[in-house]
Amino acid sequence: MFVKKIEKLPSNVKRVLKRSSVLSRKLDVAIYLVGGIVRDFILGRDNFDLDIVVEGDGLKFAHALGEHYKADFRKHHSFGTATVYFKGFKVDIATARRESYPHPGALPVITRSTLKEDLIRRDFSINAMALSLNRDDYGGLIDYYKGYTDLRDGIIRVLHDRSFTDDPTRIFRAIRFEQRFGFRMRRGTLKLLKSALAKGALKTVNEQRLRDELALMFEEEHPSRCVKRVQALIGWRFLNAQVRLSSKELALFRHLDETVRVYQKSFPHYPKVDRRALYFAGLLLPLDVKEVLTVSARFGLRKNERTVALAVGKAYRKIYRVCRGRIDPVRLYTVLSGYPLEVILFCYAYYYRNRTVKKNLLFYLDKLFGVSLKVRGRDLKKLGFGPERSYSKVFTKLLHKKIEKDFRSRREELKELKKLAKDHLRKK
Ligand code: ATP
Repeated sequence: MFVKKIEKLPSNVKRVLKRSSVLSRKLDVAIYLVGGIVRDFILGRDNFDLDIVVEGDGLKFAHALGEHYKADFRKHHSFGTATVYFKGFKVDIATARRESYPHPGALPVITRSTLKEDLIRRDFSINAMALSLNRDDYGGLIDYYKGYTDLRDGIIRVLHDRSFTDDPTRIFRAIRFEQRFGFRMRRGTLKLLKSALAKGALKTVNEQRLRDELALMFEEEHPSRCVKRVQALIGWRFLNAQVRLSSKELALFRHLDETVRVYQKSFPHYPKVDRRALYFAGLLLPLDVKEVLTVSARFGLRKNERTVALAVGKAYRKIYRVCRGRIDPVRLYTVLSGYPLEVILFCYAYYYRNRTVKKNLLFYLDKLFGVSLKVRGRDLKKLGFGPERSYSKVFTKLLHKKIEKDFRSRREELKELKKLAKDHLRKK
């Protein structure tokens, strides 16, 4: 019984669940929490992505819930599902459904069904449990497919033999959950996975869906573990024949994990790093520009993922040459400020064993990243200087002075600006 766990949820989430229960009775439907949240409940992990399955008209229920709270409500017509948005969390609501695959790898065709059938279409036993939200057995676990035992034993198991061929993206999902929780695939499941791969399952999937699965892996806490497992089980030929990761390259991915961790810890107020771009850049490193562009187009990589992969390929050696010795801050700034954050972080991971490179890159991040002037062109005007095109040079000099002297205030900048502008006019 998980009533106690439900009681521990934040009060606004709890209230919505209770209200859902009351509404379901009114509408004479049965409702259940399903999927990842049930798994995470049992594991004691925080998860507020609420998925509710309705035996009955899910859209009608979702509509009633949205109405009750005057909350934002969005229908997704193609799958008969809807999302209700609350402050800080959302509830995805679906009618219990059965899926059939017109051909392997295709998107499924959907018909209405029962909870039991809804659960068997899911990827793994650990994701196929439900918690009742109905009055008679509120908080009761429904576990038709022995998910609880698998969760306890640390096992990833598919629910039927065609699972990986029906939907080969589950191959990546299996690896992701395995590595996230430190689980292992059941022997039978692993065999099915390998056999699906041997039959060319990955060729039946839209490549952009594969990109999405890889992107999800790169959002995990330790993406390098997934990368290693993909290398061992699948290889990267599906991406490009040249992507082959030796132990040296696998170390790069471990260093990327560590770099992201250090960055987030050391610079909590800095921009969020695009991890997907970082790890895609790692995979695409052996490719030339043309090949990066081909892979990016085929797999639908996002703009920043493509930009970072290209920039890394172009810049990482140059950045090494600049950062391997002593370097003055102005030059460091001049070279590095033109690159996206992810390129800097990539180099930090790539040259992880080189203390000087790492020291310079950290110094850049700590002291120079995002440095800009507080004064503007109009300040020159206020100081009595007339319009003049060549002032951009003055501002560049001022920025360099700011870096050298570590100006903090606008006053310091203004004082220096006046001096530099006078010098500039005198020399003209
Ligand atoms: P995460 O913690 O990564 O969000 P999740 O289990 O919540 O994991 P989602 O991708 O949000 O994963 O999917 C929600 C649920 O939908 C899963 O728990 C699973 O039951 C089901 N599901 C998702 N993708 C598939 C799939 N490809 N095949 C079968 N079932 C799936």
